[in-house]
Parts: sequence; structure tokens; C-alpha cells
Amino acid sequence: GPSKDQVMETRKQFLSPGIFHYYERPVMIVEGKQQYLYDETGRRYLDAFGGIVTVSVGHSHPKLVKAVNEQNELIQHTTTIYLNDQVAYFAKELAEKLPPHLDSIYFVNSGSEANDLAILMARLYTGNYDVIALRNCYHGMSLGTMGLTAHATWKYPVAQGFGIHHALNPDPYRGRFGNDGEAYAEDVKDMLETATSGRVAAFFAEPIQGVGGAVVLADGYLKRTYEHIRNHGGVCIADEVQAGFGRTGTHYWGFETHGVSPDIVTMAKGIGNGLPLAAVATTREIASTLQKRIHFNTYGGNPVSAAAGRAVLKIIDEEGMQENCRVIGDYLLGRFAGLQEKHDVIGHCRGKGLMLGMELVKDRETKEPAGAETKKVFEDMKDMGVLIGKGGLHGNVFRIKPPMCWTMADAEFMCDAMDHALSRL
Ligand code: PMP
Repeated sequence: GPSKDQVMETRKQFLSPGIFHYYERPVMIVEGKQQYLYDETGRRYLDAFGGIVTVSVGHSHPKLVKAVNEQNELIQHTTTIYLNDQVAYFAKELAEKLPPHLDSIYFVNSGSEANDLAILMARLYTGNYDVIALRNCYHGMSLGTMGLTAHATWKYPVAQGFGIHHALNPDPYRGRFGNDGEAYAEDVKDMLETATSGRVAAFFAEPIQGVGGAVVLADGYLKRTYEHIRNHGGVCIADEVQAGFGRTGTHYWGFETHGVSPDIVTMAKGIGNGLPLAAVATTREIASTLQKRIHFNTYGGNPVSAAAGRAVLKIIDEEGMQENCRVIGDYLLGRFAGLQEKHDVIGHCRGKGLMLGMELVKDRETKEPAGAETKKVFEDMKDMGVLIGKGGLHGNVFRIKPPMCWTMADAEFMCDAMDHALSRL
């Protein structure tokens, strides 16, 4: 095939200049097997980011490849105007993973589409307009969800949302009220009473903020906030695009780790292991509001993506991947605590299961973000053969969200590499 330089040159010439890549000298990936990636020279990398938290069961998992190939040979596309078994049975199997009241599934192709649809459903169902989301949230890049996303990095002044309000972020490390979830919930109550019409359509939150840097929402926050929202006529929406499908280890869904039960759940990324697939799950009653008008999605739940989605659900269960996330995640958090004792630059380690964050600061008192140090360790990790993610409002958080099939040896390897890279700062 073409050389890496040729690919880079062609990309520069023909891909939109707005498309960015990781690393000063980008990595080219030609193959993936489970938790490993291979570049054009055959060099192996340990994948700690899963194509942005999307490769849930591992690269080219044999069972998934088989399911997709078989469907590919049969029929690739029908749209929902004809019956096809894959999409119907996928909906059934997905609903079986959710609380019983969320038994109505609408398939779309991306997280942004799912969240757009969730806003639409909430506004139609409640007859209200205002939507509340959190600062530091990421919900997508469509014109609708760009307004919802409140993260300076991803903010365009020309694409603001209408009727969208952003509440204080219940961030235990940087937030105004520490880990006091009820105090942040009071801010939502105040916002409902003073900044909205008093009637609200929806509240949106990721149970663990992904792009925002694996921020685990403060204790008790979602429970109390859901009460306030429902008291003001709104529905509660959980964005499970990153935290869902067993990644937290202890629970299948991120919202369960907060002891709440949403009215609408949106999902994408890990649901299809990389094939374009996303979904909105809600109650039959809320979903029924769409029957008054025609709503349509050409590719949503196409047979090949649906076959992939069904395989993902099966593999997670058959191979005990949720439990694996818990075991490996606990080990990693333990190792991170050790690294934090040794390296002053580590300000905070957090997360659940295989959705972890490590925040670097110049000073533990002021919490001044250590951007340059983050970048240096990030590059060094790549040179040592580990591809990690980064994010957070200030770009100073490592995001460790690997395929759910990581082994203890992988976890040890990454921590040793991290220790080494941090020592070199
Ligand atoms: N919600 C969350 C929590 C996300 O992390 C993302 C993507 N980073 C989205 C929604 C949007 O998904 P997509 O890129 O598939 O539109």
C-alpha cells in the first residue's frame, strides 16, 4: 500500500483542514486485533482509547466479524420501510438490557443524531422548550447538539442552542461544592425557577463525563436533580454514549451507578464497536409522540450495523467483559493512586471500571492545569507503544478507556510506561 508520508500528503490535500489528528507525528493504523493496533511497519501498540471509547469488545473480534460478514452477504440495506429480522431482534435484545419501562428503541447512526432525537422527543412530549445540560458536557456536533455541548474547545459562537441552559458542573475535583451533589442540584432548582419559564422539557447529563475528562458526577447529584426536573414537568435524559454497555464494571449503564432511572437513554460508540450505529431508548408513551408526524432515518439500524450491535451484546455477556472492566479498572485505580504518591504532577485520578481519568496539574493547591506536561507524557507513551486518550476542559486529563477485553498484563504494561514517562518530566 501507499507509504505513511503519501497517506499524510493525500490527507492534507483532500480531507477538510478542520480534521485533526493525535500526535505530532501521527500514527498510521493498518490493522487491529482485540486490544492491539498495528502500524504500517508492523509495530504493535496497546490501545488504551478504543478509537475514542468505541471499540468495546476489541478490534475485529472474530464473533463480530463473522456476524457482520454473514449479514453483509445476505442484505446490506433495506430501510425500515421493509421488515428485516436484524433490526427487530436487536431492538428486543437491547431493550432486555434496559429497565423495563424503556422498551421503545429508535435506531440512528451517531451520538449526535441520538441526542438530537432525544431533544425532539422531550420537547414534543412535554410541550416545553427549555433544556438544561451541564457545563463541561459533550453531547455532539450536529447543529442541535452543538448548543447542548458546553465545552470551550468545542464551542462555536455561530451555533448556539436556543432554550438551552448550562448548570454548574458537579465536578468533585474542580467544582464549587466539591462532592456535595445536593448543593449543585440546588443550582438546577434555582435555574428552573429563575432562568427558565418554570416549565422544562429535559435535563441532559452523561453519568460520567467523557470528553470532559472522566468526571464522575458528585454523589447524590443526579438523584436530586431528577426530582427537581420532574417537579417542573421535564424528562430526564442519560447520555450513555461513553459510559454504557458495562464499561463502569459494576453496572451495565452509567446511570445505574447513580441510582437513578432516566426517561430517555441515548447511546452510540460502543454499541456498534465502530460500525455506524446509535440508539434512543425511551418509554412507549414518550416515543408515541413521534407518531403524530413522520420521523425518518435512512440508515438507522441497517442490517449490517444491527448484526454488529447484536454481536456486541452477546460478546459482552459471553466473555464476562463487564466483570473484566471492574477487575482491571480496580487494579488501574490502585496503581494510579501509587503513581499519584510518587509524582506531584498528578492532581486527581478518577472514574469507574474502564472509564478512567488522570488529571495533571502544575500545583496541587492551585490546580493549575499542566498542559505541556500532559502533552509530553502523551507523546512519550506513544513512543513506548501505548495509545492513550486525552481531554478535559483544559486538555490536561488522560483518558483511559480501552477495549473491554484488556488483560491484567496490559494494565501493568500501561502503568509501567506511565510511571516511566512521568519520571522523565
Ligand atoms: N455524547 C457523548 C457523551 C459523546 O462522547 C459523543 C462523542 N464524543 C457524542 C455524544 C456524539 O457522538 P457522535 O460523535 O457519534 O455524533
